[in-house]
Amino acid sequence: MDEVDTSGTAEWLSEAGRLQLGHCRACDAVHYYPRRACPFCSSLDVGRRESLGKGTIYSHSLTTRGPNGPYVLAYVTLDEGVSILTNIVDADPSTVTIGQSVEVVFKEQHSVLTPFFRPSA
Ligand SMILES: [Zn+2]
Repeated sequence: MDEVDTSGTAEWLSEAGRLQLGHCRACDAVHYYPRRACPFCSSLDVGRRESLGKGTIYSHSLTTRGPNGPYVLAYVTLDEGVSILTNIVDADPSTVTIGQSVEVVFKEQHSVLTPFFRPSA
C-alpha cells in the first residue's frame, strides 16, 4: 500500500494542506510551481505564498483515450494571476468551457497529493 505524502514536502502543498505558490521578494511576482530561484528575475530571495485555490479555465483539451478513460487537460489561471497546467476533474468533460470558474482539489497521484481543479459554484 502506497503512503500519501502529506508532510508538506511537495512544493505545491503548504503545511496547512493548501495550494502553495512561489513568491519573489525582489520583483513581487508569484510563480508556479514554487522553486528556489524566481523564473522572472532569477533572484534567490523567494518564499512561499498560499493560494486561495480559485481560478478560471484559460484553455482546455479533451483526451478521449486516457489510461483511465477520458480526461481534460487545462490551463487554469488562478486569481493570483499565475497559470497552472492541470486536469479538470469531477466534471462531465463535455460541460467544461473556457472562462469557467474552478477550484483546487487535491487527489492522490503516484502517492503524492497533487492539485487538480473542479468546477466551482
Ligand atoms: Zn523575481
